[in-house]
Amino acid sequence: MFRASTFLMICFLVNGPASAEVHFLKVKNQKWQQDTLATMDWVNSKLPQSWPRPKDFNIAYVEGSTPSYYPQYRYKDASGKMQAIPRLLVVGNTEPAILVHEYAHVIFDEMLRQKSIPWQYSIIWQKHKYVNLEERLTFMEEEIPKLQQMRAKFLAKKAAGDISPIVASAVKNTTRTITEYAEARFEIMQALKLQKDYGLPLDGIRSFSALQAYNELFADTLACLVFEDWQIIKKAIANEARNPALLKRLRLPPLDDPETAMQSYLSYRDFTTLWSLQDYGFEDWEHGNPYWQFAPTRTFIRQSVETGQVSPTGMIKGLGLAILDIYENQLLAEPHLVEQGLFEKNLSLQQALRGQIQVYANLQ
Ligand SMILES: [Zn+2]
Repeated sequence: MFRASTFLMICFLVNGPASAEVHFLKVKNQKWQQDTLATMDWVNSKLPQSWPRPKDFNIAYVEGSTPSYYPQYRYKDASGKMQAIPRLLVVGNTEPAILVHEYAHVIFDEMLRQKSIPWQYSIIWQKHKYVNLEERLTFMEEEIPKLQQMRAKFLAKKAAGDISPIVASAVKNTTRTITEYAEARFEIMQALKLQKDYGLPLDGIRSFSALQAYNELFADTLACLVFEDWQIIKKAIANEARNPALLKRLRLPPLDDPETAMQSYLSYRDFTTLWSLQDYGFEDWEHGNPYWQFAPTRTFIRQSVETGQVSPTGMIKGLGLAILDIYENQLLAEPHLVEQGLFEKNLSLQQALRGQIQVYANLQ
């Protein structure tokens, strides 16, 4: 989705942080920056008081991009070396509801960073490309002293008057690699400590993909609740559907007529349809899209709020905590559940949610 040129645009850092907690890497103009901050402040004002507000994340305006949030954004720099920007929200010209949906992903990530040891582990593990972290640590511990010896040898040559470019670049490269390995070693040690403290295996599932459909449901729900409109996401996508990049990314359902396919796609993002879990016939291909998996649960969420069983604020907290519960007590405990059928997936989320919304029914 990201072309190599995108990073160049991001890298022209425009100005410093507009607030202590949000770092703007690239802005469209000052008004855009103020509007974006105002939208996020407005969403924060609707969150439960005790709920963690996102802090210390990055935003970049990239013209024509479809908005996305990357817990870790990787790109190749001009020298071909991989670089990473942590916690990057990329937004283009976008509908306010879509911005709120993306910001909800930042909120979801922040909640898990603060409440979940497995999520903290998964952030480091993902950064290290899901390799075996113990083996990686052993590798680092063997390599760092070798690199230090090599560096000392080249430094000695330099001190003895060798001014050749080979020696100069060898000093530079070994110094850089030692720094990178030392940082990686420190991070991996942190992850292994989290693993030790937690006790249960944390590498049974890849958390970002395992939670993706839940994350999308949370983001759509939050947007509907703050706008007080159960069709706000559907309407926003219908408005943005002229953007070819977005159309490509949506992965429309398998229908011949693009118009019908789009209507069908939009119905998945709509909370006003009347789908009951018992009557809903899940199709195999619905597994293939993170936006399609919780159609009957969207109805359940709307009805729970509309009938006054839970306040909108209580629903935000209840849904967040229900997902946390599913993540830690089901998916991590029994990794095969990541592959479970959509009926079971909806059923267990609704059960967890029922428990949470009883607790937070009147939360303001
Ligand atoms: Zn999303």
